[in-house]
Amino acid sequence: MPPIDRKLRVFLCHASQDKSIVRDLYQRLLSERWIDPWLDKEKLLPGQDWELEIQKSVETADVVIVCLSEIAVVKEGYYQKEIKKVLDVADEKPEGTIFVIPLRLDNCGVPRRLKVWEYLDYFPDDLRDQRYKRLLQSLVIRANHIGIYEHGRCYICNEPILSIQSWGKCLYCNTAYHKECWENNIGCDVMGCAGNYNVEYFYQPNS
Ligand SMILES: [Zn+2]
Ligand SMILES: [Zn+2]
Repeated sequence: MPPIDRKLRVFLCHASQDKSIVRDLYQRLLSERWIDPWLDKEKLLPGQDWELEIQKSVETADVVIVCLSEIAVVKEGYYQKEIKKVLDVADEKPEGTIFVIPLRLDNCGVPRRLKVWEYLDYFPDDLRDQRYKRLLQSLVIRANHIGIYEHGRCYICNEPILSIQSWGKCLYCNTAYHKECWENNIGCDVMGCAGNYNVEYFYQPNS
């Protein structure tokens, strides 16, 4: 599969009551340079047919995160319709595809129709950073699957290096870095490596 040159499209399905925490998640995902998150409030323009736009977004999403909470799971109306739409699209994906990720925002029950997927938790507050990393791991697997390749981990930040990011290897020791991390560090971070004196000794495959 050839590498693709676009971000991972992540649709955030949520009930309006949960929007503050979901907005926070959206901002986090947005700060990952390889993720294009979709949240209705952020993306819809005035006058757009929102039901149609949301349907299109679910259909073109690579991953849908269904946010669940005690309030949301008993809520009637559009949120439930949205979940139904998500499940219809999920039906068309090959088995084993990470397409739906149920994400619990509190200690709510997981609706039966979503139980076929492994869910993740995004609470309590003090574990949220850790939970977020787990979520990212699932998204990385999906990204790799559709052709947004991972080139291993960056030696400085320890985050995955993906094909759509600028990255390179130290020409002395072959250690991989994000371009940004390399530049901020002014060279290789491996102790004793000659690459740490000279930023020019950096190979950039996609520059
Ligand atoms: Zn890095
Ligand atoms: Zn080096």
